[in-house]
Amino acid sequence: MTSTLLRGRTLSFLRWPETVDDHSAWRYEDDGGLLLRDGRIVAADAYADVEKKADEGVKKIDHRPHLLLPGFIDAHAHFPQMQVIASYGAELLDWLNTYTFPEETKFQNAQHGRRIARLFLDEMVHHGTTTVAAYCSVHKESAEAFFAESHDRNMLNIAGKVMMDRNAPEGVLDTAQSAYDDSKTLIKEWHGKGRQHYAITPRFAITSSPEQLEMAGALCREYPDLHMQTHLSENHAEIAFTLQLYPQARDYTDVYERYGLLGRKSLFGHCIHLSEREADALSDTGSVAVFCPTSNLFLGSGLFDYQRYRRREKPLRIATATDIGGGTNYSMLRTMDEGYKVIALNGEKLNPFQSFWQLTRGNAEALSIVEKIGTLDQGSDADIVVLDARATPAMRLRMETADTLAEELFLLQTLGDDRAVREVYVAGRAMKTDMAV
Ligand SMILES: [Zn+2]
Repeated sequence: MTSTLLRGRTLSFLRWPETVDDHSAWRYEDDGGLLLRDGRIVAADAYADVEKKADEGVKKIDHRPHLLLPGFIDAHAHFPQMQVIASYGAELLDWLNTYTFPEETKFQNAQHGRRIARLFLDEMVHHGTTTVAAYCSVHKESAEAFFAESHDRNMLNIAGKVMMDRNAPEGVLDTAQSAYDDSKTLIKEWHGKGRQHYAITPRFAITSSPEQLEMAGALCREYPDLHMQTHLSENHAEIAFTLQLYPQARDYTDVYERYGLLGRKSLFGHCIHLSEREADALSDTGSVAVFCPTSNLFLGSGLFDYQRYRRREKPLRIATATDIGGGTNYSMLRTMDEGYKVIALNGEKLNPFQSFWQLTRGNAEALSIVEKIGTLDQGSDADIVVLDARATPAMRLRMETADTLAEELFLLQTLGDDRAVREVYVAGRAMKTDMAV
């Protein structure tokens, strides 16, 4: 079996970095080597040491002076919304009704779904994202299209058919029973096939009847190792409408709690306006709050209080995400730049090591898949991004005055985008070179 030896400046995190001087939180090699074989990293160390372990016919690729990091992870995005992104002038509920739902009706056409899934995953990889937790449309065909494209690329992705049986146009509705049946068929066909993971995906409480949330809970009990993804507490009108639809619930989180949807593999998009009780309930169950800064700013939903959620007595597990197409950029670098500003508006800061921890290991931990991805550790899947902090003239100029790794990372986050992504490896395969994405 041929193996590949990458050379460059390698950076991988061991834990949350408290400060920019918390050196034991990460591992950085100025002249690092990664030996890849059968889609995995089989050795990671100083280049001279790794080279000794390589066999004769190893393919050597020198990425110096660029940085090699684990591929970025996007914990929440909607692949059918590529032609919704950049739609003007609405808050969440109007935005869904005016733009999103009509667009998603097109995904009953399997060919359309396949085309958009292909372009979506190309876009992800092009921006350095090697794993995404994606919402498909309500149509089973859309999930089939997504998984087929994901499997072709040998990507580790998490996705599910959206369950929604009310408060939306006919063309994007299922029923409680058909949602259960279709999800089950898709789980059997795709979950665990190659690197594919299925997520039980009720869109949110407004578009699911109590019977359907009951069915989602039943699926979670039948398949306890699956992810569950939905939306929670994004916008005030959404919260008010939810409580009107579920008058017996104590609060929005309680709607999901009642149907057994909280847990360590449950991903809740947004979580902006949580009460203390709701935050406690998420924390007690190990549920994940997903921070989507560009979406929250674009739709005017509110400011996710990242540092307070992290530091509270019962801390929240947090992931970050683009939320395409409410979100406005496919790049996780752009996303963390906006995230930094949202955190700043809450009177706090996120240092660049914390930011890149979040993009890689942090999101992998939140998705409970850190044993596979999110680090450059030996044994990890070979999902790797190669970053060039001098990718544009403005970046090159600014780099003249950047002396430390922390400054370089912050520059990449603040000025960087897909142009800074020189190469992306998915399970050891060079995607920009081999697939020209
Ligand atoms: Zn969303």
